[in-house]
Amino acid sequence: MIFHGKQFIGFNIVANKKETFQAINPATGEKLDGFFKEATLKEVESAAEKAAKAFAIYRKKSGVEKAIFLETIAEEINALGDALINRCCSESGLPVARITGERGRTTGQLLLFAQLLREGSWVQASIDTALPERLPLPRPDIRSMQIALGPVAVFGASNFPLAFSVAGGDTVSALAAGCSIVVKAHPAHPGTCELIASAITKAAQKTNMPDGVFSMVHGGAKVGMALVNNKNIKAVGFTGSFKVGKALFDAAAKRKEPIPVYAEMGSVNPVFVLPEALAQNGESIAQGFTNSVNLGVGQFCTNPGMLVVENKIETDVFFQHIKTAFDASVGGTMLTEGIQKNFQRGVAHLQSMNEVHVLGEGKSNETHTSVTPVVFKVDAKEILTQSALSEEVFGPSSVVVLASGKSDLVAIAQKLDGHLTATLFGTPQDLIENRNLIAVLEQKVGRLIINAFPTGVEVCHSMVHGGNFPATTFPNSTSVGTNAIYRFTKPICYQGFTDELLPDELKHSNPLKIVRRVDGKYKL
Ligand code: NAP
Repeated sequence: MIFHGKQFIGFNIVANKKETFQAINPATGEKLDGFFKEATLKEVESAAEKAAKAFAIYRKKSGVEKAIFLETIAEEINALGDALINRCCSESGLPVARITGERGRTTGQLLLFAQLLREGSWVQASIDTALPERLPLPRPDIRSMQIALGPVAVFGASNFPLAFSVAGGDTVSALAAGCSIVVKAHPAHPGTCELIASAITKAAQKTNMPDGVFSMVHGGAKVGMALVNNKNIKAVGFTGSFKVGKALFDAAAKRKEPIPVYAEMGSVNPVFVLPEALAQNGESIAQGFTNSVNLGVGQFCTNPGMLVVENKIETDVFFQHIKTAFDASVGGTMLTEGIQKNFQRGVAHLQSMNEVHVLGEGKSNETHTSVTPVVFKVDAKEILTQSALSEEVFGPSSVVVLASGKSDLVAIAQKLDGHLTATLFGTPQDLIENRNLIAVLEQKVGRLIINAFPTGVEVCHSMVHGGNFPATTFPNSTSVGTNAIYRFTKPICYQGFTDELLPDELKHSNPLKIVRRVDGKYKL
């Protein structure tokens, strides 16, 4: 496989004279084939300028035309075949089965958004017909719908090198909305990024999309900040650390024209195990919890970093089951040396804290960036007083918390910051008795789960992969599922427009046959 080592400035694939860098295989520490270069600030500017020009054309494409574009991207990704899988595995250290599954998820989400566009009702067309006879004043004809916001900057995530990177959730939702995009490739998997960028570029050319509908630049903080500060960029999608997400958000807020940064950052995803469930299924919950913490070497944003359980007769046995399961677990290869070091620092910090005890510890698999899974145990009062215990340690670690009673559960929930998910294990009776706890959690997270672990995020219409700050910068948004499209749209209202001037979605005869709200009632 030969890599261009170049920037994708629309259909122009260009080289600069900057120093090259190579991707690293995290399993071995060896440098991989291919030389990549960080984009120059001039290249970032050209990509954003092209995106602005392309936006004017692309946003006017019909839903069907955009759907065909997305479907063709999926075809081109599949056409990359094993070359994509092999490169992605080498760059991420993730196994073939996971990456093959992730490719399916990536193409699946492209097809799901294509279906959304073909169906068309997502635009939320709303019509209030004129009331010329109304007294004391007549009402004009007023219609509204969602339209594309403008060129979007997408930051590929390290932990989903396909499904949340160059052709991932942010890209597909922005393209579906009618936005052109400029992706900042993640330096941890530059070859994978290039392969996907070439597939998207081919699909854009095949389906007659404007030059500049998609660009991709390589680089780190400098390139990222240049994109966020570029006047042609009107929104940002980001998944990664709190530190970087918040820095991008703050920079965007300070622009002459502030823009939204939809950042998905850290989350601890607390799990509450209620008494009857503990008595009936303690062993299987302990094993499921250990599996969920270790899934993908803990590198999931929905990784359960905290488990809270009431002190009952069965609790000691439950802890023993967790210890046994953790002691038997084997850590895998982390995505990058940086992520490995962050994990080790986070674990060392927890170990150094008073009243924080190691409950169970697995083994390393001895690869270059391998880590050891670990679970800590603390009393509820520690969680309530030491905020570091409720912060994400990205990787296979978790903290189990011993609560003295139901009121502790509610107090812990009230103390929580925003997270992506919260989980309750409970029998129907447990859950009825803990309605208060559910009510508190509703105000903290984007997804509440009963009797299942949070890892595994379905891509569908009803999914909410969001949550209150600091899990995300916009608690009223989701980055997974078809509602992710609304991060990259804005409402527009047309008052007194003739049918001829209105977009098809709002014309009197409803030529697209979409569901619309007409005078307050939803109808076809
Ligand atoms: P990151 O440090 O947040 O970096 C994300 C991207 O932003 C990278 O492409 C990075 O480039 C770039 N960047 C770094 N500093 C920047 C700045 N000041 N301005 C603009 N762009 C900047 O994430 P990561 O490298 O993928 O992983 C590091 C840590 O992030 C992990 O250890 C974990 O704690 C957290 N993380 C969390 C999740 C989650 O889902 N919760 C997912 C991924 C990562 P460079 O690599 O060149 O710096």
